[in-house]
Amino acid sequence: MAQKWVSFEDVKSRVSMHDVLAHYGLLQGTVEKPSKHGMELRLRCPFHEDKTPSLSINAETGKFHCFGCHAKGGDIFDFVVAKEGISAGDRTKDRRQAALRITDWFGVEPNAPAPLATAPTAPVSAPVAELTPPAEESEGPINPPLSFTFKHLDTRHPYLLQDRGLQEATIDFFGLGHHSGKGIMQGRVVIPIHNEQGDLVAYAGRWPADTGWPEGSQKYALPAGFRKSNVLFNLHRAKEHATEGLIVVEGYFTVFEFYQRGRKNVVALMGSSMSAEQERLIVETVGPKGRVLLALDHDEAGRRGSEDAVNRLRSQVFVREMAL
Ligand SMILES: [Zn+2]
Repeated sequence: MAQKWVSFEDVKSRVSMHDVLAHYGLLQGTVEKPSKHGMELRLRCPFHEDKTPSLSINAETGKFHCFGCHAKGGDIFDFVVAKEGISAGDRTKDRRQAALRITDWFGVEPNAPAPLATAPTAPVSAPVAELTPPAEESEGPINPPLSFTFKHLDTRHPYLLQDRGLQEATIDFFGLGHHSGKGIMQGRVVIPIHNEQGDLVAYAGRWPADTGWPEGSQKYALPAGFRKSNVLFNLHRAKEHATEGLIVVEGYFTVFEFYQRGRKNVVALMGSSMSAEQERLIVETVGPKGRVLLALDHDEAGRRGSEDAVNRLRSQVFVREMAL
């Protein structure tokens, strides 16, 4: 795909957080109050079902944080990424897509390309600096527990029962259901994700078909700010059965399928590559003489992910591969 140039700084200088909120019709009912960091906006959070205004936004910087669902980000681009459910692969790509969308909405002409701007060795200019996540992003705990759960889910949705062949007991065990309320999970089957301790830290949203998801989003949606590389899906349950070793798969639904076949020691990477933190969690869970069965998808990404994981794990645990 051709790379259309967009300068984050330029877009930011012309489009304010107010403009973006107005675009989404979110300004109504917004409370404005001065804070020590500048003017603070409080509004009902569009990322979860919010009864009180839980979303705090700095009017100048656009830095936002929800006290309910913990959605957070540093500026208008992060906000649009979350609101649109953009997941283009990594944060920079997501933000770039958001910036392009904003230029469309507000008729901002992207500036002429700066030839060195995407080269990592280029002298630091504003656009290059923009490609690096702001330092304040690492504030606070990674993936803090959610303070809400989705209510009124349709737990007998045909996508789960028919399309995926899940049994009612499996659906209930994993807390799955179709969400019709507003937000980025609207119309999606939600999958609760817990940390190692069993705290609910996010929901993943699977569109209940292989086509037709809202424009700008993907088959799977994850909340902005959620770091999936810090979590192994289902670890808090699987670790109880880790004396049998740990089966490591890519996706949520593979975990559910294994569960229905009586395997409870299964975790998912939520992707085809194992992060350093996931590696640490796997090794720690099975222990130094433990067994790990890697059962990643039988496609190019899965094969590469599996090879890499084997290389990293084999000096620490007994590891075998199985192609699904
Ligand atoms: Zn929220």
